[in-house]
Amino acid sequence: MTGKHEFACGTRTCRVCAEEYMDGTLYLSPGLVATLPDHINGGSGICPQHQELHDKGYVAFVEIDGSKTGVNFDNKDASEREVLRTGRMIHIRRTVAAKVLRNGAAKDASRTARVLYVDIGAIDQLVAFINGSIAEGSLSADDAPI
Ligand SMILES: [Zn+2]
Repeated sequence: MTGKHEFACGTRTCRVCAEEYMDGTLYLSPGLVATLPDHINGGSGICPQHQELHDKGYVAFVEIDGSKTGVNFDNKDASEREVLRTGRMIHIRRTVAAKVLRNGAAKDASRTARVLYVDIGAIDQLVAFINGSIAEGSLSADDAPI
């Protein structure tokens, strides 16, 4: 919808899936004059679907192309808007991430983070390691990534 409106719905962009979702905010123009766009993006957040997975104990691993975006994986300030996503992502239980991640900073982050951006190849390695651990019995089938 184009044009100006008396109110605008607030949206945010999900850090996990990069989709825009309504965040429940309603912006009213001063004097209820039609001056606003149909929606206003208030920044980043986590969409309801991915918040639910976080609440169930999962952390999202989103694959990005670090070489094309110039993101330095040591830069904790890298914004989700700077990353170039490949479209691949998985969700791993935080308890499993704490067992399989070898990088101390990533292990610490997985305890509370909702999303971790990883370079190309990391998701394949994680899935292979977790599936191998399930096959040998050190992890259960319930620990499989989704
Ligand atoms: Zn999402």
